[in-house]
Amino acid sequence: MTDAHPLTLFNSLTRRLEPFQPVHPGEARVYTCGPTVYNYPHIGNMRAYVFADVLGRTLSFKGYRLTHVINITDVGHLTDDADAGEDKMEKMAQAQAQSIWDIAQHYTQAYWADIAALNIRQPAEWSVATKYVPQMIEFAKAIAGKHCYELDGGLYFDVSTVADYGRLARAVTEDGEGRIEAVEGKRNAADFAIWRKTPPGEKRQMEWDSPWGRGAPGWHLECSVMSGDLLGFPFDIHTGGIDHREIHHPNEIAQNQAFCCTNGLDVPANSGAKVWMHNNFLVERSGKMSKSSGEFLRLQLLVDKGYHPLAYRMMCLQAHYRSELEFSWEGLGAALVRLKRLVMATENLKAHDGVDAELSRQADGLGQGQRAPGGKLGSFLERFDRAISEDLNTPVALTVMEEVVAAKKVDPREKLAVLAQMDAVLGLNLFALVRADLRIRPKSATITDAEIEEVLARRVQARAEKDFAASDALRDELAGKGVEVMDGDPLRWEWKLG
Ligand code: AMP
Ligand code: ZN
Repeated sequence: MTDAHPLTLFNSLTRRLEPFQPVHPGEARVYTCGPTVYNYPHIGNMRAYVFADVLGRTLSFKGYRLTHVINITDVGHLTDDADAGEDKMEKMAQAQAQSIWDIAQHYTQAYWADIAALNIRQPAEWSVATKYVPQMIEFAKAIAGKHCYELDGGLYFDVSTVADYGRLARAVTEDGEGRIEAVEGKRNAADFAIWRKTPPGEKRQMEWDSPWGRGAPGWHLECSVMSGDLLGFPFDIHTGGIDHREIHHPNEIAQNQAFCCTNGLDVPANSGAKVWMHNNFLVERSGKMSKSSGEFLRLQLLVDKGYHPLAYRMMCLQAHYRSELEFSWEGLGAALVRLKRLVMATENLKAHDGVDAELSRQADGLGQGQRAPGGKLGSFLERFDRAISEDLNTPVALTVMEEVVAAKKVDPREKLAVLAQMDAVLGLNLFALVRADLRIRPKSATITDAEIEEVLARRVQARAEKDFAASDALRDELAGKGVEVMDGDPLRWEWKLG
């Protein structure tokens, strides 16, 4: 662990940068709100997990023993965050005429595939909401007497029973802002259901018995229960996308306050977590990213168009997590080129005489609070540490990494050792990727690399024999198959698929 640059993080609850002071010395316990598995995640959703991953990797780099939990919401999330609409899972199951369990399994697997493709580390636990229903009932029972009341629809949380409700959102709660469901009998506009009764005469696929009737838990209750159960209140950091700052997290905080019998939020730990962190949105030029309108930007769509998924990770790292990031195909292409340059530089370093093969395989092993010997690159590592310690400044950290690659008169082994430590934080997988992985290869392309290389070899031969007519004909032959020949390309790509 280094004290040279103490880790500071932006706490959404205080709206300030604060030095990270763990609840348990030497440890960091982090909870990340996970996906609702009723559909594929879009790449905006995945930005939230890239951010949480960089946070976790940074905590490891700083020497903290990390326990990270990400939940899987498979019940209770309504079509409107503000306590209205239908359960997203039930709705999708009906639309697809499938069981909720099958829907949940399918989309959980798809989400995990994206997690792996983006080189996001596995958390200590994926907590699945439906496995925690008995604990949710116990939690609700513990707070019901003082903080809840029953209506026909279920058990409601009275937000006036806790101090500072809504501080995280900086919201005025009384008017309800027109986004909160008008339910007859609610005491305050912002009150929300923590247990939802199945309406009489209806049968839901997912329902459980409870003291408040047969039904299902509220989405906010799930996260309070799983985070408290697995990490203990108060834990260190709670993360999510910036939309959660408005409703979901204020409601979690209210429940946590009720459960822990604690008071106001001038002491942030009374909220259940010391620090609340939120990533800003990935947006499309047309506005907010959505799963239902326009082109559904799944990670798989990027792959189908030929982009390596880590180009998207690079795109995320190029922006600070608290800035909005606009998606464009040009931007993705530029991020891919930047990644390519780093991968090629790493390959070249590995190819140097005397570089120990073992060293070049160490990529993820370093970085757990270890430091490479000072050497000539000590100051680069120091600047990298400073950047990442200042509220995860990945854009600056990336440029420091590129300076290492460009540094003159440095032993390649030293460069590789430093790059490995930096990549353990940024997670670009530089030591496993090879240049050929990063070639743009749209799914629609049928010609194989071997076929292209074979034609190119003949073209090299023709040019050696000064037969330029034959050389041009071979170039045209490739163009007819969607392959552009790139003579003199500075990255030495030689060809690309159109
Ligand atoms: P959901 O599955 O809708 O609960 O969302 C999963 C995560 O993605 C949550 O942390 C959201 O706050 C986050 N999120 C949703 N849309 C975006 C977006 N366009 N950009 C970044 N994060 C998002
Ligand atoms: Zn949550």
